[in-house]
Amino acid sequence: MDLGISGRTAIVCAASKGLGRACAEALAAEGVHIILNARDQTSLTATAGEIAVRHGVRVIPVAADLSTEAGRATLLAACPAPDILVNNAGGPPPGDYHSWTTADWEQALNTNMRAPIALIAAYADGMAERKFGRIVNITSSVVRHPIDAQGLSAAARSGLHGFVATIVRGLARNNVTVNNLLPGPFATDRLLSNFAFRAKREGKPVEDVVAARKAELPAGRFGDPAELGRLCAYLCSAGAGYVSGQSIVLDGAAHPQAL
Ligand code: NAP
Repeated sequence: MDLGISGRTAIVCAASKGLGRACAEALAAEGVHIILNARDQTSLTATAGEIAVRHGVRVIPVAADLSTEAGRATLLAACPAPDILVNNAGGPPPGDYHSWTTADWEQALNTNMRAPIALIAAYADGMAERKFGRIVNITSSVVRHPIDAQGLSAAARSGLHGFVATIVRGLARNNVTVNNLLPGPFATDRLLSNFAFRAKREGKPVEDVVAARKAELPAGRFGDPAELGRLCAYLCSAGAGYVSGQSIVLDGAAHPQAL
């Protein structure tokens, strides 16, 4: 299927690896030029080179911490008028809400709520003027299906979802869509490091902890980041202009859904 976005330009945030990278790969495979962001310059440059060679598109690495205003200003200066924006960033650590400090809250809110909202605010009007815009926010299934230790993540991302719900109607007439992707467990470094932490705490081999978790899942496996990337690319396609304001859970049917 031709997604009709060849030659367009996408900013993909937090994309040197994991889910962000998978979105960049899927868009690049459609002929989209990529502004690739993450904080660490070395790994970012390496990933940008690999994607450019594999897909024959321009990939410009922009190293910036999007949780800061300075980082977002760097991204804006590098790409003032993208057609596509994929919002993403590292997730907050799990923990006990009794011990979270003001600094912990600020970090989570800056990274997972204020950063995507600020980028949407910076780019959406220009997209509307150009009559094309696709914005996808990578959030988390914890927004729909709470996990007790993930309060920082659930709170910050719910704030983003609430904001998105207030802007989509104002953008629809000009062919600008905003949608949220809510991943369950996907096989990325972040997920695997969480298992390493749990295995150490429980004194078990990490392979056993991973196998037990997979066995609990209806699909019997973790998600492949490429699966999320392909859905992201579809939501960014020319033909997806009538899909907006949606929050799509990708969890291999791990949670029962009412109709
Ligand atoms: P990952 O494999 O650890 O990759 C994170 C990427 O984000 C890296 O490229 C990292 O590069 C970049 N990054 C982190 N903080 C950043 C910041 N402040 N500014 C710019 N770039 C930043 O993580 P992932 O598993 O793909 O997860 C991506 C998002 O999905 C996270 O918010 C995570 O909580 C959420 N999520 C993941 C899962 C899952 O199962 N994997 C499930 C639910 C939700 P640098 O370190 O160089 O910046």
